[in-house]
Amino acid sequence: MSLYRKYRPLLFADIAGQEHIKQTLQRAIVRNELVHAYLFSGPRAVGKTTTARILTRAVNCAARASDQSEPCNRCDACMAILENRALDVIEIDAASHTGVDNVRDTIIAAARVGRAGLAKKVFIIDEVHMLSTSAFNALLKILEEPPAQVLFILATTELHKVPATIASRCQRFDFKRIAPDVMRARLKRLIGLEKKNVTDDVVDTIVRLSDGCLRDAESLLGQVLVLGDKKIDRDAACVILPIGNLAAVKDLIAALLAVDGASALRIINDCIERDCDLSVFTADTLEYFRTLLLIQSGTPELVGMSESELRERTGQAARITSERLLAIIGHFSVAQRDVRYFSIPQLPIEVAIVKSCLYTDAHQ
Ligand SMILES: [Zn+2]
Repeated sequence: MSLYRKYRPLLFADIAGQEHIKQTLQRAIVRNELVHAYLFSGPRAVGKTTTARILTRAVNCAARASDQSEPCNRCDACMAILENRALDVIEIDAASHTGVDNVRDTIIAAARVGRAGLAKKVFIIDEVHMLSTSAFNALLKILEEPPAQVLFILATTELHKVPATIASRCQRFDFKRIAPDVMRARLKRLIGLEKKNVTDDVVDTIVRLSDGCLRDAESLLGQVLVLGDKKIDRDAACVILPIGNLAAVKDLIAALLAVDGASALRIINDCIERDCDLSVFTADTLEYFRTLLLIQSGTPELVGMSESELRERTGQAARITSERLLAIIGHFSVAQRDVRYFSIPQLPIEVAIVKSCLYTDAHQ
C-alpha cells in the first residue's frame, strides 16, 4: 500500500498544515454552526478530500461528545464511512460526471430521499469546476433550497471556473500548498513510523521536488524507502531522485558572497566529477538565494526552515546588498534555463558565477 493511503490522516489533528481551516471547521462542529455547503479550493493533493472525509465522519460520528470535534473512527457510522459502504455518503468525481443527468440522478434525487442511517447525508463533489453549465444550474437549485440534514462539500483545483452563483452559496476555504517545514516534519514522522533511516539532505530534496504537494512528496518518499533498511543517503537515493548537493550549494553561496569567483568555479567542476545533477544544483542555488532575498525583505517567516539555519542565512543576507543579490538571482535564472541545452552543461553556471563576481559591491 502506498504511504499516502497507509498514513492518510483520520483526524483533523493529523492533517498537515491548513491550520486556519482545521480550526474554523472544528470550532463550527463543536458549536453546531456548520453551514450546508462548503467549497474547498486549492492546489491538488494538499488535503481537500482528506479534510472532506474527516468532516463527513465528524458530523456523523455516533460516539463523538458534543464538546469534541474529532470523529472516533470506531463507531458503526465512522466504520461504514471509512469502509466506503455508507449509503448516505456520496462521493462524485465531477470530472467523469459532467452532465446535468448525472447531477439530477446522483445528487438531486439522492438528496431528496431520506437518510439511510447516518445523521447527515453528505455529498463530496470533487473537481466540481468540471460540471457543465446545465449541471451547475441544477446544482444551484438544490444549494438554494437544501433539504434538511444534507451537507455539500465541493472541491476544486480551479476556483475561477466555479460560477460565482455556486461559490456564493458556500462557505469557502482556500487550501494552501504545504509549507516546507510542515512537509519536512510530516516526512520525518513517516520515516520514523516506517522505522527507516533517511538522511536530512534526501528529505530536503523530496521537500523541494514536491513543491508543496503532499501526495507527490509521500510518493517519492515511498519509492526511496523501498531502497532498504540501511541508512538511505544521497548516494543511495540518487537512483530515484535527481539529487543535487546541498553541501556544495552552501560552499558556492559562501564563495559568491565572498566574491571569490575562482573557488566558485572549482566547486561547480567538482560537482560534475561527482555526477551531480546540474539543473537540480542550479535550482537549489536559486532557492537558497530566494531565502536570502526573503530575509532581506523582512519576511523570514516565508522561508520555512529551522532556527539555526535561519540564523545562518540571516547572517549571510546581511553581508550582501539587495542590488547584488538581485543581480546574482538574475544571472542564475539564465543559467537554470540554459543548463539543459548547452553541450557543456556547466558553462551557463560558470558564466553566472563570473558575472556575479565581476561587479562587486564596491563598483555598484
Ligand atoms: Zn465515530
